[in-house]
Amino acid sequence: MRQTLTDKRGHPLKQMSLQKRVELRKLYKAQMPKWRHPVTGYLASIPTVGLGLLIVVFAKMILSNDFVFPGMLMVLSVLVVSLFWGVGPALFSVALGAAALDYFYLPPVEQFDITTSRGLVQVLPFAVVGCIIAFITAQREAARMRALIAEEEAIERADELEKVNKQLEQADHLKDQFLSMASHELKTPITTIRGQAQIALRRMSKQGDLSKEQATTSEALRKIDEQTQRLNSLVDDLLDLSSIRAGKVGLQLQQCDLVEVCREVVEDQRLLTNRVIELQKPGGAVTLRGDCNRLGQVVVNLVSNALKYSAEEQPVCVRLQRDDAMAVITVRDYGKGIAEDQQKQIFEPFYRTPDAQTSSKRGMGLGLAICKDIVERHSGRIWCDSTPGEGTIFTIELPLR
Ligand code: ADP
Repeated sequence: MRQTLTDKRGHPLKQMSLQKRVELRKLYKAQMPKWRHPVTGYLASIPTVGLGLLIVVFAKMILSNDFVFPGMLMVLSVLVVSLFWGVGPALFSVALGAAALDYFYLPPVEQFDITTSRGLVQVLPFAVVGCIIAFITAQREAARMRALIAEEEAIERADELEKVNKQLEQADHLKDQFLSMASHELKTPITTIRGQAQIALRRMSKQGDLSKEQATTSEALRKIDEQTQRLNSLVDDLLDLSSIRAGKVGLQLQQCDLVEVCREVVEDQRLLTNRVIELQKPGGAVTLRGDCNRLGQVVVNLVSNALKYSAEEQPVCVRLQRDDAMAVITVRDYGKGIAEDQQKQIFEPFYRTPDAQTSSKRGMGLGLAICKDIVERHSGRIWCDSTPGEGTIFTIELPLR
């Protein structure tokens, strides 16, 4: 039974049809210059063999009788024919050459005696070597055909791949469009719910002492406010991601002091979380031309990750340094750390380490992808160094000019 070849995923591989192979052979011939066509080869064999015969006769005349195989010189004409015109004309020239040598060396059939005739020694080796040359030429041609078939198959595969790639790109684009539309649509009701909850909370706080029932309502409203705030920042991340994907994130460039950016972020996060966040900064300002809000968003993301993925009692250190051409911000925590093989992947959208997935820390794996995009749009770099069990250091390097 004929076995079907399959690819790695088990999909059947398409075999090239016989018709296609014939077409390829025609193409192979069509690619040759006219003078190398087999018909020209058959015609050219006649003078070439004639020339070979002249060489043989000449060699026989000038060389002594010690030279026992002058007939072998005819092989030269077979070589020339096979080199330029391929296997068919080569075989034809072997036949022609053998006939010519036979005419010169072998006596007529009625006088032929196999035990005494030396002529056979001239014709037979020539015919054998000629056939070997024709065989090698056939092999060479087959190899060339195989290469052509492989090339054609590779082109076909590349076309198929391109088609699939286009479909995937289209699907990806549709998904991004959906993401963007859904996020936009979610934004309005979330803002309304949050606004209403906040108004109600404010009203209640003005009332002074609350009954037990009112206190429960107030607590529910506070939870609504908290969760809608979370929802809001998730939707913001999704919107950011879809803008990044669509290449629509514009930067509002201005003179931006990184000392101020880091200071503000650290103060806000201290207030919000009551955690110890150290800040080390140089004496003067560290200014560059960039988008202050977006750079602030990067530092917020890194600091809140550091707080999220380390224990409450552990400090987080933010350090800003500058040299001639670069500003370097590092955010360090003493949490669980990130395994080496995951350190690159954490910058991919929606990637969360297995540790993070199994922990109670919520997230969508978007923050670092957004950070990376913002930093790279400022011609900077972001990376992470981590020793599992000892903590993580995120570093951002931003060119000052
Ligand atoms: P999120 O925190 O919302 O999951 P991020 O894109 O900010 O998404 O981070 C991606 C992943 O990188 C996280 O899920 C977590 O697994 C890992 N990670 C980020 N920061 C830290 C950190 N400081 N310590 C340990 N793991 C981290």
